[in-house]
Amino acid sequence: MHADTPAERPIITVYDTLLQRKVPLQPLHPGEIRMYVCGPTVYNLFHIGNARPLVAFDVVARHLRARGYRVTFVRNITDVDDKIINRARESGEDPAAFAERWTREYHTDYQALNCLPTDLEPRATDHIAEMQAQIKQLIDRGMAYEVDGSVYFTVGQFAGYGELSKLPLEELRAGARKEPEGHKRDPADFALWKAAKPGELAWPSPWGQGRPGWHIECSAMAEKYLGPSFDLHGGGIDLRFPHHENERAQSQGIHGPGSFAQHWLHNGFIGFRWVHKDQVLAEGSKISKSDEKMRFMYHAFVARTCIERHGGEAVRLWLLTTHYRNPIAFDVDMPPDDTSSLTALRLPGLEEAERRLEYAYLSLQRLEDALAPLPPEPAGTVLPEADGWLERLYQGLDDDFNTPVALAEWTAALGLVNRILDNKLLPAPAKDVRRRTLRRLAADLAQAGAVLGLGEKPTAAWLAEHRTRRVKARGLDEARIAELLRERAVARQEKDFARSDTLRQQLWELGVEVMDTPTGPRWRVHD
Ligand SMILES: [Zn+2]
Repeated sequence: MHADTPAERPIITVYDTLLQRKVPLQPLHPGEIRMYVCGPTVYNLFHIGNARPLVAFDVVARHLRARGYRVTFVRNITDVDDKIINRARESGEDPAAFAERWTREYHTDYQALNCLPTDLEPRATDHIAEMQAQIKQLIDRGMAYEVDGSVYFTVGQFAGYGELSKLPLEELRAGARKEPEGHKRDPADFALWKAAKPGELAWPSPWGQGRPGWHIECSAMAEKYLGPSFDLHGGGIDLRFPHHENERAQSQGIHGPGSFAQHWLHNGFIGFRWVHKDQVLAEGSKISKSDEKMRFMYHAFVARTCIERHGGEAVRLWLLTTHYRNPIAFDVDMPPDDTSSLTALRLPGLEEAERRLEYAYLSLQRLEDALAPLPPEPAGTVLPEADGWLERLYQGLDDDFNTPVALAEWTAALGLVNRILDNKLLPAPAKDVRRRTLRRLAADLAQAGAVLGLGEKPTAAWLAEHRTRRVKARGLDEARIAELLRERAVARQEKDFARSDTLRQQLWELGVEVMDTPTGPRWRVHD
């Protein structure tokens, strides 16, 4: 699968937001993809909507690598911003220390989602000089002007303005934020450099003390690490305007048409849905902000909450179940008559994803158990069902990173593992074919896991973590469970199978399913 020559590399198509169609990905440099994705502004815990681009573009990078590309993946950290400055002031913290603290929290959740580290993670405050250099170039080219220590981009000077967001300039002017922002010549102009108020976080500049605008950060960091032109630019669809429109205007304003991102990829929204007993009670904007329930909904919307309740990998699986461009409804199940506590709140989508993931890990563990005692197998045929699915999985991802297709192949392969181990295949395969098929499935499932970022953890460790979470969520009596398991082990040792069965039943009633495996009994929390 790791193609070494361009001829072997399959064509990958991407949906380009600028062109509004799928196009074959043709790298600027053969065999290499340079990609930039806008990173977080670090001032709080990120929510599930922010988790989506992290996971979506992690799969993009993993798949491009699996298809043989050398990938340079840059995602910035915005560590200077109005929100950071205001929140730091509220908490009496130094803005830099405040941003550093939230960067660590961001990394914690990022890793929990099983996203691989990007190649580079530049921070805005380390690139003030690069931003100032770009702003100077824009002023020199007549595309920006200074007023009272602030510098603005002249959108009227950039012919392509609005092309990415498909918004006519007149509409953009009408919709431009009405908040006072110095003396802009055109309401659609946007700030490249903001003059600092006394006492504010500021850097010296040719225009006086100030700080950069948000959009210029990405233009400067993308150019520094990926060059004036690079292959992919990603982010949430909410960034298309104004952020990406402005990034594009700044960079093309300097380097000319055709420069900067060759393709724009945007992931879809995640919207709230308040559900109960399979009924949708309210959706998105129809949930009143003054509603008491919003407090709980927001709590549920924080990625950390989702991770703590269901594990980061289940959140990841849930996100990948929908194609990255499509919207997702985030269901929060709350009884309408109970607004008093979080105990009644459930996240059905994540519950389902966690169940699916447990099934995956149990299947992988079964497969490991079955293969462990077997000697190496000489080459030969495998069952036809075990052949070809991994390539179909990759082909699904070649088609604009269609993770639902890939997940269907992955799930079917796990099902095949269980059918073989349950001896359900008819006619029963020859023993050597069965062994070779299981080995092949194990190897291919590892590759599929590596591209999707699923099922990569040691199975016993993931299952133990999952079980601990479930024991806590169900409020099970761990001491009592341990006692019954010990008694059952003794009964089995003494070949008292009637007693062993009674204990199994007692455990079941407590919420525990005991599974006898070749390596001894294991247990899980059942539904
Ligand atoms: Zn950006």
